[in-house]
Amino acid sequence: MTGSAQADGRDASDRTAGRSADPDRSPVANADVCVVGAGPAGTLVADRLAGRDHEVVVLDAGPRFDETERVERMEKAIRPAFSRPDVWDVGGDRDAYESVGDRHYPLNRTRVKGIGGSTLHWQGMVMRLHEADFASASERGVGANWPIEYSDLRPYYAEAETGIGVAGADDNPFAPPREEPFPMPAFPPSYSDSLFAEACEALEISMHSVPNARNSEGYDGRSACQGYGSCRPVCPSGAKYDGSVHAETAAAKGATVIDRAPVQRLEHTTDRIEAAVFATPDGTEHRQEAETFVVAAGGVETPRLLLLSDSEHYPDGLANSSGAVGRYFMDHVFAGAGGVLEEPTRQNHVGFLTSESHQFYDEADERIAPFKLEFFNFAGPSPVGIALTGEDWGDDLLERIRAEYGNHVTVGALVETLPQAENRVALHPDRTDDHGNPVPEIHWSIDDRAKRTIERANEVQHEILDELGASERWTQGVEGTVPTNHHMGTTRMGSDPSASVVNSSLRTHDLENCWIASSSVFPTAGAMNPTLTIGALALKAADHVDAAL
Ligand SMILES: Cc1cc2nc3c(=O)[nH]c(=O)nc-3n(C[C@H](O)[C@H](O)[C@H](O)COP(=O)(O)OP(=O)(O)OC[C@H]3O[C@@H](n4cnc5c(N)ncnc54)[C@H](O)[C@@H]3O)c2cc1C
Ligand code: SF4
Repeated sequence: MTGSAQADGRDASDRTAGRSADPDRSPVANADVCVVGAGPAGTLVADRLAGRDHEVVVLDAGPRFDETERVERMEKAIRPAFSRPDVWDVGGDRDAYESVGDRHYPLNRTRVKGIGGSTLHWQGMVMRLHEADFASASERGVGANWPIEYSDLRPYYAEAETGIGVAGADDNPFAPPREEPFPMPAFPPSYSDSLFAEACEALEISMHSVPNARNSEGYDGRSACQGYGSCRPVCPSGAKYDGSVHAETAAAKGATVIDRAPVQRLEHTTDRIEAAVFATPDGTEHRQEAETFVVAAGGVETPRLLLLSDSEHYPDGLANSSGAVGRYFMDHVFAGAGGVLEEPTRQNHVGFLTSESHQFYDEADERIAPFKLEFFNFAGPSPVGIALTGEDWGDDLLERIRAEYGNHVTVGALVETLPQAENRVALHPDRTDDHGNPVPEIHWSIDDRAKRTIERANEVQHEILDELGASERWTQGVEGTVPTNHHMGTTRMGSDPSASVVNSSLRTHDLENCWIASSSVFPTAGAMNPTLTIGALALKAADHVDAAL
């Protein structure tokens, strides 16, 4: 990086929130809050604080994607030759990383850098953690207790559901208590759900709807789902929520959202952050000063930025007097099984999940982790995918496609992994990114309890497939398991400053004006997709920042 750090602040009223071809990326004068990261966490914080008349500036490393290009991105996504990170321009020196440890961690498949963050290509399943997830050490004998309870987060969960726009039904007998109705009705169960339902009834396994961050009817100025089925990695219609929604509303309330502005380091004294130093595409660096800072750069870049901001005060990285920054990295792991039925399953009409089961979730203990079952609506290989696997042409190929397409079933499961200090995000000793900063080095392994749970989930999945009479069976077990794109634990929350990074107000123990909004604060992972909890915690963090200003 060449160029010098500048403090050339302007008034927010001078700007157009980064919309013009050559937007003004200079810092905002007299900012109350600087948010680093414009994923759902950062934009929910920005939206709330801008709505309370604070001067808010949001800095994001990636671009502001043009909504009109989403159809082109969808077209890229459905070509079998195109890799998923390319669809959102992830990769190259900017996004270089190293994975070491027992298992490879495919980081660039699991994130997007840009306004909206990783929700641009997420699935959009949004459920609350269960009450016992907040007290894993006491209730299950492993992991850690959170310093807050479900009841502390409950009102924020409701607000996050309204803000994001969740389609759901109160039909899950295992879900934690809720009083508020979901903002939109649930999507109806798919046809293949009805096949699973018969098998599950015979096995006494309850199925229920999936709360979805996609519009089952028009909501908040966005249209109802059009059924394109390409939700992951791109929803061309905007019916699926992503963080750019709150970037827009925050900007409409006066926040300044600056894209292509990767924060290089956080300048600080012993107890306060003074400025976020960010780079701009013209090769210069700027200093964004503010009263308060909220780091919301996701579960990997948040600890990395703190580690990159080391100083003589904090030689091991900022906010890291506990030594926990970057440690206890967690993801969920996937267990799956599938097969083929002698009838069409018709899932190709639905691109997301409509049914799951939390039946086994609260049986978790020291030996077996919480897990939930997911009934997939994916129809197996597409006709193009089938065509690419054989040597046949013409009528032979057509016959094979007819025989192989649209009759597959899959039952998946998300499984909790435990927080382990040796699983971590560190700085790579040699390799650097396009700004000369050490890239993240991911150390990842899977604990024995998670492995046992994958086997247990596979057992249940096989019982369901037996009941369905599925043939040509496959299993994704301990060896073939993969992480599920949920980065957690790397700046954990706790009441003991010697063992955690943030307190129950999401403020760092070490710095009086620095909060973190991210799944990086999760002390344990649970086995629920994390983003609704991220949203609830972000709104809670925003209230604490508001109170401090
Ligand atoms: C394929 C896929 C499917 C998923 N499905 C689900 C699902 O069904 N349900 C669910 O709950 N979750 C799901 N997730 C996870 C979900 O996307 C994340 O939990 C969520 O996006 C995290 O939000 P965040 O705001 O904390 O971080 P992110 O969304 O990662 O946003 C962080 C932002 O910070 C920016 N940033 C990073 N470093 C810097 C820096 N130094 N300076 C400035 N900006 C920076 C990045 O550019 C990015 O925009 C899925 C993820 C993937 C990849
Ligand atoms: S199925 Fe719905 S949410 Fe998914 S891409 Fe299509 S319109 Fe978007």
